Amino acid sequence: MSSGIKFCYTCDTDEPHRPLTDSEKVWLKNRTGQRNVDGYFMCEAPNCRNVRTGFNKHPFDPVIRVPLPD
Ligand SMILES: [Zn+2]
Repeated sequence: MSSGIKFCYTCDTDEPHRPLTDSEKVWLKNRTGQRNVDGYFMCEAPNCRNVRTGFNKHPFDPVIRVPLPD
């Protein structure tokens, strides 16, 4: 498995993922109430943006998707 390729629960395939940006981390902290969201990654497949951690493909039920920037 290369660095950014992880299984995406919502795509049901291996997809490129990237760490969250600073503004996305602020959003996810507010969304989840968690203080540390450094371990989360976002699926880069078109129109997906599902959030997972490095170890857990399905950390949220229902799933959380990062909103598109304004
Ligand atoms: Zn995906």
